[in-house]
Amino acid sequence: MLNLMQPRQLLMSRILRHAQRFHGDVEVVSYDKHGAASTLTYEEIHARSCQLANALKGVGTSAGARVATLAWNDHRHLEVYFAVAGMGAVCHTINPRLHLDDIDYIVNDAQDLVVFYDPDFSSLVAELRMRCRGVKHWVCFEHREGQVEDALYEELIDSNSSTFEWPEFSEDTACALCYTSGTTGRPKGVLTSHRSNLLMYMSMVSPDVFNVGARDVVLAVAPMFHVASWGFPFAAPMVGAKLVLPGPNMSGSSLFDAMEAHGVTMSTGVPTVWIGVIDEIAIRGRAPSRLKRALIGGSACSSQAIETLETLGIEVLHSWGMTELSPLGTLNQLKNGNQHMDVADRKSLKLKQGRPPFGVDLRIVDDNHREVPWGPSARGALEVQGHWAIESYFNSQQSALNSDGWLSTGDIANIDSEGYMQLVDREKDIIKSGGEWISSLELERAAQSCDGIQEVAAIGVPHQRWQERPVLIAVALNGVALDEKAVLHHVKQQVASWQVPDRVVQVSELPKTGTGKVDKKQLRTQFQDLLIP
Ligand code: ADP
Repeated sequence: MLNLMQPRQLLMSRILRHAQRFHGDVEVVSYDKHGAASTLTYEEIHARSCQLANALKGVGTSAGARVATLAWNDHRHLEVYFAVAGMGAVCHTINPRLHLDDIDYIVNDAQDLVVFYDPDFSSLVAELRMRCRGVKHWVCFEHREGQVEDALYEELIDSNSSTFEWPEFSEDTACALCYTSGTTGRPKGVLTSHRSNLLMYMSMVSPDVFNVGARDVVLAVAPMFHVASWGFPFAAPMVGAKLVLPGPNMSGSSLFDAMEAHGVTMSTGVPTVWIGVIDEIAIRGRAPSRLKRALIGGSACSSQAIETLETLGIEVLHSWGMTELSPLGTLNQLKNGNQHMDVADRKSLKLKQGRPPFGVDLRIVDDNHREVPWGPSARGALEVQGHWAIESYFNSQQSALNSDGWLSTGDIANIDSEGYMQLVDREKDIIKSGGEWISSLELERAAQSCDGIQEVAAIGVPHQRWQERPVLIAVALNGVALDEKAVLHHVKQQVASWQVPDRVVQVSELPKTGTGKVDKKQLRTQFQDLLIP
């Protein structure tokens, strides 16, 4: 029997219409590269998105066309998000930190019709223009001296009407395209739907996930050019939260200033971003006055970060995800029974990546693909299913799932008896020493608590006898010289003796990938001869 409810499709345009109607005066603040802030309201963002949708229609953008962005977190990027998805086209966010060959590849693979770009990426666009002949319109966000005369954003939207009849269509229509960062081969396209995104945003704002509401001010630091800033540019207007978009400046001091100036209550970021904020907190001797929640994801969060922030009354929301999961996979919100644990147990529980919200399912499997029962020492390859998880990659004829319908994540994890997941390592980062596996994440956790260490990566380095041995590559606080023996002694207190790294190498900076994570592949190449006698 069919139901008798209204057949309303879950469409992205509904988010903006809702924000405009019920939270029209709530502000969206954008920072530019000089640190100047401009403010628009959701009412204005809606009007400008309508103008842009009319303009895009005028240049021949039809349903399903791919419209790309090469831009920082700012209001124009947000308007492109809403206009493109709302009109039934596909918003393809390009990560400018990828290698030029990869960007060339994805623009052609996506068959982008229009590319909106920030003038900071003009030289990148100059290269792409030669290689990506399928792009019909290059639109620059603003004019800069000496630059090619492409269409300018404000001029494009200016003469267009600020009303647009957002079309109705199936919620299964594609809406956004984002490529993985391509650490294993060419980047692969993840094509999400209106339905998958809206279900994820509704989950994100719920109390047991990120708990976002109309009283919040959200600083969306995770880049909009990669997995849509983890969904916050949509989740915030969905509930009428004020949105702060930091532009290109992600230093601890500029983020602290933005938090202070706008009463930010929650912010997002990879661990490196939070290290910058924590350093700034130490310099200023206080936390941003209204900051209540810190969402940390993308890489493992250290116990020092959790301790420092939570001591200041800022709740740490440790989350795991991946592009293929749009990206929300798990979030560490404590269950009722875990609220009153002693300090040490709470600390080790908080280090875990947490539980999946409704909508995502997880399991760990052994080498024969059998599910491993949950428990303190359970360990296996992590697999997922979910409403916002991919079935296949863009332009691929093959399913990305294994024969029983699960997506392999490339991660190795534990799931404890209560369902909290903790990553042991990425399959490709685990250190294989004499037939035993050593978790690089565990070594990093052990080393991070050592005095004088700011950031550290553990990698496996070729070894004549043991195949691989762990070494630590570390950045010291304030650049002081690290005492190798003292660091190793510190680590030894926390891990089995055969797991203690052979060496500690001090560097001034750790290389980062296009998504801001430590680039262990590069480190492995750089230090491949370290233990060769
Ligand atoms: P993104 O591109 O969004 O960074 P990727 O798909 O490149 O995502 O990377 C996803 C991988 O990042 C995961 O499979 C996992 O290895 C790692 N990761 C994500 N979040 C965490 C976390 N909280 N702790 C440890 N590793 C994480």
